[in-house]
Amino acid sequence: MAKYGLLGKDLSHSFSKAFFTNKFEKEKRKATYHNFELESLDLFPELTYKTEGLKGLNVTIPYKEEIIPYLDKIDKEAAKIGAVNTIKFGKNGKLIGYNTDHYGFAKALADYFPIKEKTALILGSGGASKAISYVLDAMEFDYEIVARTPSIDSISYDSLDREIMEDHLLIVNCTPIGTSPNVEDCPRIPYQYIGEDHVLFDLIYNPTETEFMKRGFVRGARVSNGLKMLEYQAQKAWKIWNS
Ligand code: NAP
Repeated sequence: MAKYGLLGKDLSHSFSKAFFTNKFEKEKRKATYHNFELESLDLFPELTYKTEGLKGLNVTIPYKEEIIPYLDKIDKEAAKIGAVNTIKFGKNGKLIGYNTDHYGFAKALADYFPIKEKTALILGSGGASKAISYVLDAMEFDYEIVARTPSIDSISYDSLDREIMEDHLLIVNCTPIGTSPNVEDCPRIPYQYIGEDHVLFDLIYNPTETEFMKRGFVRGARVSNGLKMLEYQAQKAWKIWNS
């Protein structure tokens, strides 16, 4: 029986197990999907040789970047992004890392085109933020990353004034702020400057309508949660495992 799974730290709210279990049942596949919660990646090598029949893993918070040194090979796009969310167990037990978040985001964002201007703010600078930057670079967006501790590559939340908000029409939440159970929280941006030309894209999918989305929606913006992105990236992971 082929085994697949999700690698992370706290997987109580994860989507992947239900998605793949449902898929395997529907397609009558001899495969199972498991959650692998590891306190530390020091335990990862033991997991790989103790789990018989392991063919592929999805990787989630907080291990998308930390996992890289444990892999034998990294696909070109994952290397450019600097984060891995899919691992394929290749021939001879070799572990190959891929990133499918960028594919999922690009495909989900396509539903929101055209956007009046190719300008964006990316909130947060973690693993998902890197995949989103990769997509926006490829699409030739002019964007800024907003971080709690700004650097040469990012700006601060305090610097977000009317002009910056009005000049950046796509706003992508790549932070976990607003995830269940903290559903009343939202990223600290001046929502009063959001208008109908904006698109607010939240990578969060639980709850399905986040406070970030609600605050954009009441000001006429188009809004999205992260569910479609998640489904597209999972479908892509499945293709990679079976290629
Ligand atoms: P991550 O690597 O831990 O990065 C999250 C970033 O959010 C951090 O680097 C940090 O950026 C910012 N952040 C964290 N706590 C914050 C706080 N209290 N206030 C403000 N900013 C904070 O996580 P990730 O893998 O990028 O995932 C981020 C979110 O995207 C998660 O909710 C995840 O579930 C979701 N996600 C969804 C999909 C999908 O398919 N829908 C795919 C990937 C990820 P700064 O330090 O720069 O402020």
